[in-house]
Amino acid sequence: MIQLSNYEIWFVTGTQHLYGDETLKKVAENSKTIAQHLNDSPIIPIKVVFKPILTGPEEIYKLCLEAKTDSKCIGLITWMHTFSPAKMWINGLKILQKPFVHLHTQFNQDIPFADIDMDFMNLNQSAHGCREFGFINSRMRLQRKVVVGHWKDTEVHERLNVWARAAAGWMDMQGARFGRFGDNMREVAVTDGDKVEAQIKFGYSVNGYGIGDLVAYINQISDKEVESLTQEYEQKYTVTKELRKGGEKYKALCDAAKIEAGLRAFLKDKNLKGFTDTFEDLHGMVQLPGIAAQRLMAEGYGFGGEGDWKTAALGRAIKVMGSGLKGGSSFMEDYTYHLSPDGMKVLGAHMLEIDESIADGKPSCEIHPLGIGGKSDPVRLVFNVGAGAAINASLIDMGSRFRLIVNEVETVKIEKDMPKLPVARALWIPQPNLKVAAQLWILAGGAHHTVFSQAITTEYMEDFAEMAGIEYLNIGEKTDPHQFKNELKWNDLYYHLAKGI
Ligand code: MN
Repeated sequence: MIQLSNYEIWFVTGTQHLYGDETLKKVAENSKTIAQHLNDSPIIPIKVVFKPILTGPEEIYKLCLEAKTDSKCIGLITWMHTFSPAKMWINGLKILQKPFVHLHTQFNQDIPFADIDMDFMNLNQSAHGCREFGFINSRMRLQRKVVVGHWKDTEVHERLNVWARAAAGWMDMQGARFGRFGDNMREVAVTDGDKVEAQIKFGYSVNGYGIGDLVAYINQISDKEVESLTQEYEQKYTVTKELRKGGEKYKALCDAAKIEAGLRAFLKDKNLKGFTDTFEDLHGMVQLPGIAAQRLMAEGYGFGGEGDWKTAALGRAIKVMGSGLKGGSSFMEDYTYHLSPDGMKVLGAHMLEIDESIADGKPSCEIHPLGIGGKSDPVRLVFNVGAGAAINASLIDMGSRFRLIVNEVETVKIEKDMPKLPVARALWIPQPNLKVAAQLWILAGGAHHTVFSQAITTEYMEDFAEMAGIEYLNIGEKTDPHQFKNELKWNDLYYHLAKGI
C-alpha cells in the first residue's frame, strides 16, 4: 500500500540572463547531467525530474505553482548554477507550499588551476550564487534542508535520500484519513490533543467511527475468508497446537482472523491510512484486535493503542519514510526497566500490538488471557526484536504547538527467555544512557507511546519536523542535560514569538 515510485522530485536550477545564451546552454546541459545522475543513484529511491532552468521571476513563479499543485511532485531540489538574484524567487517561494532542499553543489569537483579563466568563473558561481538564494530563504523564514558537497558524492546522495523519504512521508500525510474506533482511553492526557490543529499543521484528518460499524464489517466476513487467513497464519508463524485446526482453541484463531479481515475491509472502504482502538470500547467484539493490529501495521497502516491518533499518524509517516529499507517500525511503549548498575535497559512492549515487521525470526502465534478489557482471550504474535540501532519517536500536543521528541536507542539481543511474558518485546539501551534519556524525555513531556523504528534515523525525523514546522527535540549520544533544559525554555519562548517572526 506504499509506493514511493509514484512520487517525483523536481530538480530546479536557478540562473539569470546576464551571461549570454552560450553560458545558459551550458547551465542547462550541466543541470540535466546532475538531475540524471541523481535519478540514476541507487541511494535515492524517488524519481528525480529535470526542469528547464529558471532565469526570471515569471518562470520561477510558474514552476512553483506547478510544483505546488502537482500530485506526484513531493518537493524540489534547488540549485544555483550561477548567480540568480533572489528577489526573483520571492513570489514563487511564497506560494510553493512544498518541501525543498537546497543542494549546495557545483558542477566541477575540483578547481581547474591550470585552465581556470573568466569564462569558467562566469559559468560556475554556485559558491556565491547559492548564498544569495540562502539569504532569501532565511529572510523569508523558510524551512529547508541544506546539503553541501559534490553531486557525485554518495554522502550527498544519502542526505538527499533522507530528505526525499521524509518528503514522501509528508506528502502521504496530506489529505490522509485516520480512523478511531471509540474515543481516547478515559482520563489519559498525552494520547489526546487538538485534532483540528493537527489537521491544520499536518494535513491529515482524524475521525471517529462507532465500534458497531466495525463489528458489522467483521460479521460479514465469510468462513472461506477466515479459513484462508488461518492457513496463512499456519504457514507464516509457529501456531501453537491449541490454535491449529482441530485444536481446542481453533475457534479463537478464527475469531481473530475474522477481526483482521473485517478491519482491513473497513480501512479500505473508508480510505484510512491508520486507526486507533481502545479496550474500553469493544462492544460487540469477541476479542481486542491483537494479531490483526500487528499484521495491519506490517502492511503499512499506522496504529495507536487506546485512542492514540497522533502515534498512529506518525507511525504511518515513518512507514512511508522507511519503505524498502532494512528494518521495520512499530507502535511501542516503554514498559519496564532493568536498572542494574551493570547495564540499564528498557523493556519495550505493548499489551499486544507490536508490528511483526521488527520481529527477529519467525513469530509464534499464541493465545493468552489479557487481564483487561473483559473480552475473550486475544490471539497475538509473540517474538523478540533483533539487535541494532533504532529510534523512539513521540509526538505530543503542548497546547500551543506540537513537539516531536526522538531518542536514539541501541536495541540489544534478549539473552534470557521470558516464558511467562506472552507479548512481542524489545530490549534497548537509550542514548546517552537510561538515566539521562529518561530524565530528559520526562522533562520534555514525551509520551509512554512511541513509534519505534529500526529503518530510519533521527535525521529523517528532523527533516520531517522542519517540513511540518514543528518543534523537534533529540536525545542522543551527545545530548547534554543542561543544554537540553535550556532548549526547552528557549523553545517555549521561540514558539510563542515565532508567529510574529
Ligand atoms: Mn498503551
